[in-house]
Amino acid sequence: MELNYQSMKVAHQAREADEQRTEMRKKSLLILIYHHLLGQGYVAAAVALDQETNGGVRRFEVSDNIDLEMVLMEYESYHYVKFQKYPKLIRRIAEAGERKYPTRSATKRSPRSAVKPLPEINPSRNTNTGTGAKKPTTSENGIYLAPQSSDFGLSVSSIKNAPAGECATNRKMTDAKGAIQDAVRGAGIDSDHMERLLKPLSGFSGMSGEMRELATIVSRDIYLHSPNVRWEDIIGLEDAKRLVKEAVVYPIKYPQLFTGILSPWKGLLLYGPPGTGKTLLAKAVATECKTTFFNISASSIVSKWRGDSEKLVRVLFELARYHAPSTIFLDELESVMGQRGSSMGGEHEGSRRMKTELLVQMDGLARSDDLVFVLAASNLPWELDHAMLRRLEKRILVSLPSSPARQAMISHWLPPLSCTGGVELRTVLDYEALAKEMEGYSGSDIRLACKEAAMRPVRKIFDALESHQDDDTDMPAIQLETVTTADFLNVIEHTKPSARNLMDRYTAWEREYQSV
Ligand code: ADP
Repeated sequence: MELNYQSMKVAHQAREADEQRTEMRKKSLLILIYHHLLGQGYVAAAVALDQETNGGVRRFEVSDNIDLEMVLMEYESYHYVKFQKYPKLIRRIAEAGERKYPTRSATKRSPRSAVKPLPEINPSRNTNTGTGAKKPTTSENGIYLAPQSSDFGLSVSSIKNAPAGECATNRKMTDAKGAIQDAVRGAGIDSDHMERLLKPLSGFSGMSGEMRELATIVSRDIYLHSPNVRWEDIIGLEDAKRLVKEAVVYPIKYPQLFTGILSPWKGLLLYGPPGTGKTLLAKAVATECKTTFFNISASSIVSKWRGDSEKLVRVLFELARYHAPSTIFLDELESVMGQRGSSMGGEHEGSRRMKTELLVQMDGLARSDDLVFVLAASNLPWELDHAMLRRLEKRILVSLPSSPARQAMISHWLPPLSCTGGVELRTVLDYEALAKEMEGYSGSDIRLACKEAAMRPVRKIFDALESHQDDDTDMPAIQLETVTTADFLNVIEHTKPSARNLMDRYTAWEREYQSV
């Protein structure tokens, strides 16, 4: 009995100490936000924050070796470890009759956002459209915010799954940056003005030191404005296109329809032989939906940013959320997400941490209603780590082109008449016969063969061109030889399809792992 009492007492003390630590973390966070606002010149916002906390932040100083971003990250990691979920900073929103401030989603979306809202079907739906739609206090996936006490007006809460239909109507969810924005709103700055004012804060320029550097790297090397690939640029692959549209394009265009059981997949795996158009599909999503496109070759994350790769992943997802709707394209996934157990001991510690971070970030996406999609591509799906595979719920086989698709490709790249550098190139080709000959070739193989076939007549005129440069006479009119079916067949003889032998393996894997 005595022993039982003792152990309960110890547990109670430990819990109390834990709670105190959490409170301390919350307070230091607010102090940091306060000073950060002051530092950025948002005096009114800082004053508002101070008033809301009853002067609780003004009296403290932040030591100069503390970095807001790092503290936030640490706090989030701590929260994640403790509760298996990230914290969300929240504040009370205006009651009816009180002054209403624009929601974060309404201000953070850039005008580029192409999301086209349906006529409002469910008024409580957060459309994330950037068209001024009102943000609800809960997500339609039944996520709501557990009200928690706070002595600061701002409070920290975990996201919980709520029973269907249950809402916490007077709370709104926002992250750390959102909290700062809310504080600015609280200072009574009008919304148009605020969009301009908020830029430096909500953007990553406000970040300090290391994280800002990484954000710059991500923006420079990884972020593409528009990859400029249209659906019609992708030849064949009708099934894959349809599945990708269903999984990513429509949820972005018509978010109202994709709620509850239909809530969109956040992770998509495109797998199949190399050179079949996986990258093209990802780029088409980004172009057609005008999402921000982050293009990452997994192996380059590891090789280029070895030590920093884990932080880089984190910044990447942060930026993607900030620029949402976004697609993150992870190419060559198997090179970074190979099965972990198999490389025990030999695996680089940094790369192990990066994998974990990638998994954590994917979990974060799955729980949020941010429109950020991860499209991963792999040529060797059977080598993928199972934990990663589970998070890529939707798997789409991008297979070798069918005979009609091969025919369409050859006639696309080698039409009867084309112009190359001002010189006419003519072809007389039996497209159907050539397509039959090219069974097992990938789109990229076919393109290379077409290029080689077109190169042959060009090669023949080099001599004439070179000798012409030596004398000063006028350039003779150049006539290229016509490319014939026989020429093309000759090219095919000298090339080999790169992935024919693997096809059986893909279909076997498809049978075992296909999601739907
Ligand atoms: P991967 O599946 O390895 O990501 P890519 O999408 O990068 O392959 O394709 C490589 C190149 O091959 C493309 O840039 C394109 O020129 C050509 N290609 C492959 N498949 C197709 C296709 N279905 N339609 C048009 N071009 C294709």
